[in-house]
Amino acid sequence: MTPKDTLGRPMRDLRISVTDRCNFRCVYCMPKEVFGRDFRFLDRGEILSFEEIARLAAIFVRLGIEKIRITGGEPLIRRDIEELVAQLARVPGLNDLTLTTNGSLLTRAKAQALRDAGLRRITISLDSLDDEVFRRMNDVKFPVSVVLDAIECAIAVGLTPVKVDTVVRRGMNEKGIVDLAARFRGTGVIPRFIEYMDVGNSNGWKMDDVVPAREVIATLGTQWPIVPVDANYYGEVAERWRYEDGAGEVGIISSVTRPFCSACTRARLSAEGKLYACLFASQGEDLRALLRGGASDEAIAARLGTVWQARDDRYSEIRTSNTPSGAKVEMSHIGG
Ligand code: SAM
Ligand code: SF4
Ligand code: SF4
Repeated sequence: MTPKDTLGRPMRDLRISVTDRCNFRCVYCMPKEVFGRDFRFLDRGEILSFEEIARLAAIFVRLGIEKIRITGGEPLIRRDIEELVAQLARVPGLNDLTLTTNGSLLTRAKAQALRDAGLRRITISLDSLDDEVFRRMNDVKFPVSVVLDAIECAIAVGLTPVKVDTVVRRGMNEKGIVDLAARFRGTGVIPRFIEYMDVGNSNGWKMDDVVPAREVIATLGTQWPIVPVDANYYGEVAERWRYEDGAGEVGIISSVTRPFCSACTRARLSAEGKLYACLFASQGEDLRALLRGGASDEAIAARLGTVWQARDDRYSEIRTSNTPSGAKVEMSHIGG
């Protein structure tokens, strides 16, 4: 039986972070000043093995999870990640398996290996087509051309539809919105523009840095007539828009200015096996202790159900520009 939380929301999607490490230092996610040489990342023994993740995933699916997204940190730095994909692809009852990556390590061979293992589609993050702006945002001088090649590789092996996620941050990349949209019009790739969020405690978020969804839509609308499309399913976070001329779709994720907590069906599993009921939570439930303590599947399922039924999170709906920032979990820890 699918558990429902205190606001009647079922558990439907699961995001699994497979590492807290990343080869980028995006200024809005892992700023160098915080995630520098002295930062203590998780040790190998602290993170869940693929077998542990797959066992938990199967239990989650029995409780109603239909969609799993693999994320990070950067999931492709976890060695042989395609083996995890293969294990998850075999979980009976899972309808949708996808992965979010910065694309830096997505060669043609890696894309093919992921596809062969059972991945059906992929999301690649890309903040700008302008090499200088992109390098400034990833803060490790990573060139945009490699990510553009990765998008082509994903298309070539059939990890489609490819979605391209862009975090829009005021004063950094909002001038590139039209270029990004133009580049992918008519290609089948779906660009999605995400409002910059106050996740974690280290990115120095300010409301002034957020480019509201309505501004993104207005900007696109000045170039091409666009119309809203109905959501694919209950709890879909991206608002969908399509070009009237048939050149495809764009998504807008307005977590700050138009929060969607009332339909939030997402659970999040961190790399060290903690279950978070909200992106902005400060505490997670330690599932690794259960796994390594010899708990049965039934005992773990019962615990998951109890945690979900107690869930009352709706951070974005009650956020104000002066919400005090407690010790929230970092984005790189739970993967967005
Ligand atoms: N490293 C992978 C990547 O960048 O695609 C996966 C993990 S990353 C945390 C997942 C997504 O979260 C990325 O698309 C990233 O741009 C987004 N993200 C990170 N910090 C964010 C923030 N403060 N506000 C909005 N989105 C953010
Ligand atoms: Fe790494 Fe992704 Fe965070 Fe950028 S957004 S620092 S690529 S985890
Ligand atoms: Fe879901 Fe929490 Fe985000 Fe609201 S703030 S949509 S409850 S993750």
